[in-house]
Amino acid sequence: MFNVENIRKDFPILSRKVNGKPLVYFDNAATSQTPQQVIDVIVDYYSNYNANIHRGVHTLSQEATDKYEQARKKIQAHFNAKFAHEIIFTSGTTHGINLVANGFSSLLKKGDEIIVSALEHHSNIVPWQMLSERTGAILKVIPMNLDGELVMSEYDKLLSKNTKLVFVNHISNALGTINPIEYIIEKAHQVGAAVLVDGAQSCPHIKPDVQALDVDFYVVSAHKMCGPTGQGMLYGKESWLKKLPPYQGGGEMIAEVTFEKTTYAELPHKFEAGTPNICGGIAFGAAIDYMNAIGFDAIATYEHDLLEYATKKLLDIEGLKIYGTSKHKTSVISFNLESIHPYDVGTILDKLGIAARTGHHCAQPIMDYFKIPGTVRASFAFYNTKAEIDALVEGVKKAKTMLS
Ligand code: PMP
Repeated sequence: MFNVENIRKDFPILSRKVNGKPLVYFDNAATSQTPQQVIDVIVDYYSNYNANIHRGVHTLSQEATDKYEQARKKIQAHFNAKFAHEIIFTSGTTHGINLVANGFSSLLKKGDEIIVSALEHHSNIVPWQMLSERTGAILKVIPMNLDGELVMSEYDKLLSKNTKLVFVNHISNALGTINPIEYIIEKAHQVGAAVLVDGAQSCPHIKPDVQALDVDFYVVSAHKMCGPTGQGMLYGKESWLKKLPPYQGGGEMIAEVTFEKTTYAELPHKFEAGTPNICGGIAFGAAIDYMNAIGFDAIATYEHDLLEYATKKLLDIEGLKIYGTSKHKTSVISFNLESIHPYDVGTILDKLGIAARTGHHCAQPIMDYFKIPGTVRASFAFYNTKAEIDALVEGVKKAKTMLS
C-alpha cells in the first residue's frame, strides 16, 4: 500500500533544512534523491567487497563480479531485454547516446538522413550534429506545437528511404511531454530506420518494455531513478550491438591483443572498456529493486495526482504561464511569472528552502520556440507531497509580490 509518509522516511536528505526551512525538493528531473536502501548498498560495497571485477581469482573480486553481473540481470529484467548482454553499463544517458552516435559513423554515408525532435535535451542533439558533420548525413527535425507536443503529421513527411536513424526522448525533461514513441518506432521501422529512445526522464516514472516497444536502443541514467550519479545503461538489440564498432579501446573489451591486431570481446564487454563504476552498477540494481518494491503503477497514479493538484493551484496565480500543456505529460511543470526572470523566482524559492530548477534545462531550442530565456521548473517525485506543493505556491506568490 502506497504510503508517502513511510516512503519519505527512506530518504535521509528529506529531513534536512535549507536556509532554515524544511527542504522541499522539486528538482527531481535533474536528479532524484537516494533512499537509505541504496546508500546502504554503496556503503556495503566499499566496506566489504571493494575489488576490481572479471579477472580476479580472489574472493573479493569474485564477490564484486557476481554482484555486478546480478545487477545487469536486474536491469535486463526491469526493461525486459531479451538477453543480459544487451545491457551495456555506461556512465549515463549522455555516454550511451555518444556510444551509439560514434558507432553509426561507420554505417552512414553522405546524403543519408537522420531525424531528431524539437523537444530534445542537448545530449540528444549535439552528438548527432557531430555525427552529421563527420559523415555528411542530413539532420532533420520533427517540429513541435504550442502545447509542447511533437507534430506527427510532419514526422510522417520527413521519413523516406534515406532515413537511417531516428532519436527522440520518451519524455521531455523541459516540459514533461510523453512522446508517442510507439508510433515513432513503428513508422521508422517501416522505412528501415533504427530508433534510439532517450529514456532519462521516463525511467523514474514508467517501466518501459524494450521488446514490446521493439526499440533498437534505449538509454537511461541511474541518478534519475534513485540510483547514483555517473551510472547508466544502454540497451541495444543484439543484432545492432554486434554491428556497431567498439566506442573506446582498452582493458576488458578485448579478446586478444598483439601489436599486429586486436580482436574484441563478446557483448557486453566489447563496449565496456576499462574499470567500470562497479559500485555504481550494483547500486543501480538496488535502486531498481527499491522502485519496483513501491511499484510503478502506484508511482504513476500518485505523481499524476500531484501534477493535477499543482497545475490547478499554480494556474490560480494571475500572470503565471505554464509551458507544456499536453494531456500526455508526467509530473513536470515549467512556468514563468509574467516578465519576471526565472532566476529571480528560483533565488527567492531557494531562500524558502524550495529547490526548483531555473534556466533553459539543456533544451535551448524549446526555449527559442517559446521565445523565452528559460523557465522555472518544478518536477515532482513519488516522495513529494501536496503540503510541499502548497509551500511552492506560497513561495511563487511571494516572489511575484517582491519582484513585480
Ligand atoms: N536526456 C534527457 C531527456 C535528460 O533529462 C538528461 C538529464 N538532464 C539527459 C539526457 C542527460 O543525462 P546525463 O546527464 O545523466 O547523462
